[in-house]
Amino acid sequence: TSAHTPARIPGMTRVFSGIQPTGEPHIGNYFGAMRNYVRLGEQYGQDAIYCIVDLHAPTNPLAYDKATLARLTFEMALANMAVGLDPQKVVFFVQSQVREHAELGWMFTLSTPVGELERMTQYKDKAGKLESIPAGLLMYPVLQAADILLYKADTVPVGEDQVQHIELAREIARRFNHHYGDTFPEPKAVLEKAALRVPGVDGNAKMSKSKGESSTIGLLEPVESIWAKIRPAPTDPARVRRTDPGNPDICLIFDYHKLFSDDATILEVNEGCRTAGIGCIDCKKRLMVGIERELTPIQARAADLRAHPDTVLGGLEHGAERARAIAAPVMDEVRSKMGFLG
Ligand code: SF4
Repeated sequence: TSAHTPARIPGMTRVFSGIQPTGEPHIGNYFGAMRNYVRLGEQYGQDAIYCIVDLHAPTNPLAYDKATLARLTFEMALANMAVGLDPQKVVFFVQSQVREHAELGWMFTLSTPVGELERMTQYKDKAGKLESIPAGLLMYPVLQAADILLYKADTVPVGEDQVQHIELAREIARRFNHHYGDTFPEPKAVLEKAALRVPGVDGNAKMSKSKGESSTIGLLEPVESIWAKIRPAPTDPARVRRTDPGNPDICLIFDYHKLFSDDATILEVNEGCRTAGIGCIDCKKRLMVGIERELTPIQARAADLRAHPDTVLGGLEHGAERARAIAAPVMDEVRSKMGFLG
């Protein structure tokens, strides 16, 4: 460990995070989750385990089909690598390439009560939109528990909507330990708070793909296209004329400044808005400076990776090998404890 490596967080020995293959991530994903993955990766190295959960994705038949799954998985890997996730440093891989996930998922399915699964809020929400409910949708959190416990991870960074699933994973770990002897830690959820605070560029409270393209700013979106969304974006409605003072605290452009701009700019914009010293278009142009500074290097790395797809695929392959090296002995332990013929 070099003097520059940040200290680990007490009580946190191995972190696991599942990444949905949603294709191109937006800046809400970036500030909420992806940057944090890179930071944790610097602290935890090979105890930072990141898995693109492609086996989960088809449980939502409205969002994934055979034609798009591989492409979306590749795009998500590329974007995370462009942000700085280094498959040589952390364990970064695709779920379907490590067969043990499905196997442990089945082991847990054997003893998880259907009633517990039917109570999951996310299941109820998603099932309500489907005419025919795939059993995989019900089993989703069981596979999610397997993803985490396969690596005996104790810490899981998640959005608020996943906290209930992590509670279930704890319950599954407890149940297994009770029946077969101490095997799994009970994983803790760590909330990705920032993800909840990035508003949509159309004024929606939260940036979300489900609200459509007009709500999101893509991490890899060309700067001109971002400007085309920022320019007409709603600001403080009290600023009817250029000379009307405004309140940055209720303006999403100011929220974005807090993410992208340096401290001096944030101070100037805050003051300029309240005194009508700066107009909204100028304010938005100054925001674009910060957006360009942050996104240009990421987009350049993404373009480079896109020109060399073998770097992305090779990185994932290497990650899958590392993941298997951890997962295989855990599965041996599970099979033997459950009484399967070794
Ligand atoms: Fe929003 Fe900036 Fe206009 Fe103030 S000056 S209302 S912060 S866009």
